Amino acid sequence: MIPHSHIPTETVESLRELKRRIYLWAMLAGLSSMLFSWIPKILTRKITSYESVIFPLIMVLFLGLMIALWRTLRALVWVEWSLFAITTISLLGTLQETMQSPVTARDPHHLVAFVDILYWFPLVYVLAFLIFNSRRQLLFGSVVFFAVSVVLGMVHTIPELLRGESTEFYLLLRFYLANVAYIILLMVGVRLNEQYIRVYTMAETMAHLANTDALMQISNRRELEATIDREINRATRHNQPLSAVLFDLDHFKHVNDNYGHQVGDSVLQETARLVQTTLRITDFLGRWGGEEFLVIAPQTDCIQAQGLAERLRNAIAMHPHQHAGKVTASFGVAQYELGTSPDAWLKCADDALYAAKQSGRNRVATE
Ligand code: GH3
Ligand code: MG
Ligand code: MG
Repeated sequence: MIPHSHIPTETVESLRELKRRIYLWAMLAGLSSMLFSWIPKILTRKITSYESVIFPLIMVLFLGLMIALWRTLRALVWVEWSLFAITTISLLGTLQETMQSPVTARDPHHLVAFVDILYWFPLVYVLAFLIFNSRRQLLFGSVVFFAVSVVLGMVHTIPELLRGESTEFYLLLRFYLANVAYIILLMVGVRLNEQYIRVYTMAETMAHLANTDALMQISNRRELEATIDREINRATRHNQPLSAVLFDLDHFKHVNDNYGHQVGDSVLQETARLVQTTLRITDFLGRWGGEEFLVIAPQTDCIQAQGLAERLRNAIAMHPHQHAGKVTASFGVAQYELGTSPDAWLKCADDALYAAKQSGRNRVATE
């Protein structure tokens, strides 16, 4: 029911996998139910010629669909359409057959026969909900099925009603009203689902905007501060080392002054991309302010963090920018000391960065 183009591929895949499992279990339930209905009829020899054809046929078709779906997820689309077609056609056919079959003294108004089939009808609306991708398709599929069942029912019961026999007519009328309620509720449910998805997507987008630096598309200071608190808690809980690498581009004012602010911006963007690709996925990179970056490296002690900083320094210094040429950066490294405050930790990294600047830039210094 969700327009697929707005959802990441992995989510679509996991939804398809979920659907596959739902259909397999649903078809298994359908098969067992048919067997329970078929076997007693065979044993008591009360099976009609229609049932002796339709039951085995549907069971074989279901079995075929189950095997196809079991073997490959690629079968999903045609399996679900086939499932919908088989279910609707067989239900409508059975409704028609039920009304036409001769009445018996035990069941003078086909009531028992109706009970045997009518409770399966809402299943079609549930299937339509799973299969159709838009509200319009869903409404169309449900209403066409409903309209055909109304026509079949009325063609049979109105002449009876005119003859003064109203039991079947009113039974079906109540059933149709219940179907209208199902369709309305389904559409309301789908509408609510869509609203929920819209609000959820908006909240996700706003959270992303609130935590991301618009220029560099990396975490902003707010997100970094949350990461620092989280990682300090984790490191304390597991008694693991945690390090910060703070770095600042050297003589960046010159870049702006010589080539303009726009070139300065693209140097910042490229540096962020370059650093991001050099880091491990467990490290967090963010913009601490201006042209100052911070990397939080979990499970990393001071020596390892120095190695990491050296790798980043080298990657930045070697990278030629299109207009500004080569740009360097200075690094301050500090390991978190258990029990100290986040501010004290970052002050250590900042002091080390200051020392790196003082001792000539394009280098790594430690607290
Ligand atoms: P140092 O080696 O001592 O760091 O020298 P510096 O010139 O880099 O000095 P500083 O770090 O104080 O200067 C930061 C400059 O970075 C000043 C500011 O205009 C520029 N800057 C900060 N944010 C941005 C930005 O988003 N875009 C651009 N183009 N420039 C920025
Ligand atoms: Mg600078
Ligand atoms: Mg600076």
